[in-house]
Amino acid sequence: MGVFDTMQQEGHEDLVFCTDQEAGLRALICIHDTTLGPALGGIRLRGYENESLAVTDALRLSQAMTYKASLAGLAYGGGKAVVLSTSKELNREVLFRALGRSIHSLRGRYIPTEDMGTTTADIEHVLAETCYGVGRSQAFGGGGDPSPMTAWGVFCGLRACLQQAGTHTEFESMRVAIPGLGKVGYALARYLNEAGAKLLVADIDQTRTRAAVEEFGAEVMSPEQILEAPCDILAPCAAGAILNPDSISKLRCRIVGGGANNQLQSEGDGDLLLEKGIIYAPDFAINAGGLINVADELGPGGYRRERAKTKTEEIYSTVKRILADAAKRNVSPHRVAVDEARKRIASMRQLRRNMNVTD
Ligand code: NAD
Repeated sequence: MGVFDTMQQEGHEDLVFCTDQEAGLRALICIHDTTLGPALGGIRLRGYENESLAVTDALRLSQAMTYKASLAGLAYGGGKAVVLSTSKELNREVLFRALGRSIHSLRGRYIPTEDMGTTTADIEHVLAETCYGVGRSQAFGGGGDPSPMTAWGVFCGLRACLQQAGTHTEFESMRVAIPGLGKVGYALARYLNEAGAKLLVADIDQTRTRAAVEEFGAEVMSPEQILEAPCDILAPCAAGAILNPDSISKLRCRIVGGGANNQLQSEGDGDLLLEKGIIYAPDFAINAGGLINVADELGPGGYRRERAKTKTEEIYSTVKRILADAAKRNVSPHRVAVDEARKRIASMRQLRRNMNVTD
C-alpha cells in the first residue's frame, strides 16, 4: 500500500520531511492524531536500511503514541520524529538545532521529547530553537530523562500481569528476560532486581550486559537466545517488531510486557500470543510512564515528580482492566487496548462536532 493510502486508512494527519544539508539532517515528523490535543512523542535517532523503513517506523510509532496518550488519559495526541542516522559522525548540537527549527515551523502541533537514540541533551538543543518540547533536564525545571518513569510504569503493569496469570503476585524468584538494557531496560532491571527477580539479559552493547552482571548477577544471553529462554516474563526493551510469527513460535514465557514500542510486527501477532496462552500487556498501555512524566511538565505549576509518579502507577489498573476484559471476551489484549483508545478519541471528536469546534 502507498504512503497516502496508509495514512488515510490509519488516520494520520501529517508526514513532514525535513532536511538541512549543512547539519546532515534527514528527518521525518509524523503527526498521527490531534483530536485529544497536540501530538506528543519522542525523537528517535537510528539507522535504517532504506528510507521506506523510516517512513513506516514514523507512521507506526506516531499512531502508537496516539493510543498511548489516549489510554493514559492525557490531553495529547500522538506524534513522532525519526532522524535517520548515517555512518558519518554528526555534530549533535547542529543536528538537533536544525530539527528544532523544523519543529518550530509546526507551531506546537508536534511536541517532541526524547526516545531511543536521543538524550536530554539533544532535547535541550531542540529547545534552543523552539519553545515546543518537553523532557528538559531537572536543572531547567523539567523532569529529566523519562526512562526511569517508563520503567516504573512497566514494573507496575507487570504486577497486573502476574495477578492475571494467577500464580504469583510478587517478583520474588521470578525469571525475567530483558532484551535491551538501555535507558528503560536497565532501569527496569534495577526495579526487578530489588524485588527479588532473577534476571536474564541481552544487549548488542556488551558494556550494558557486563554492568548488569556486576550489579544484579544477571545471566547474559545473545539477543536471539533470550527470546527462546524458559522464563516467567519476557520484557522487551529494545527496538520494535520483536514479536512476529517466527519469534512467537519459540517463546517459552508466560507473560510478555516491556518498555519497547510496537513490539508486535502486526496486529495478528497479538492473536498468536493469545492462542499460545501467553499474557501480553499491550506496549502502549504498559510503557506510558515516560509520556506521563514529560506531559507533566506542561501541567499546572510545571513538573511535579510525585504527581507524575502517582499517575504512572495508574498503569497497574489500566493493564489489569485490559487483561481482564480481553480474557472475558477471549480476544487479544492488544485489540482491546486499541478499541479503548479509539473510543475515547471518537467521543472527543463527537463532542467537538457538537460544540462546533474546528481546531
Ligand atoms: P536506548 O537507546 O537507551 O536503549 C536501547 C537498548 O537496546 C540499547 O542498549 C541497545 O544497545 C539495545 N539493543 C538494540 N538492538 C538490540 C537487539 N537486537 N537486542 C538486544 N538489545 C538491543 O532506548 P530506550 O530509551 O531504553 O528505549 C527502549 C525502547 O523503549 C524503545 O523501543 C523505545 O521506543 C521504548 N520507549 C522508551 C521510552 C523512554 O522513556 N525512553 C518510553 C516509552 C517507550
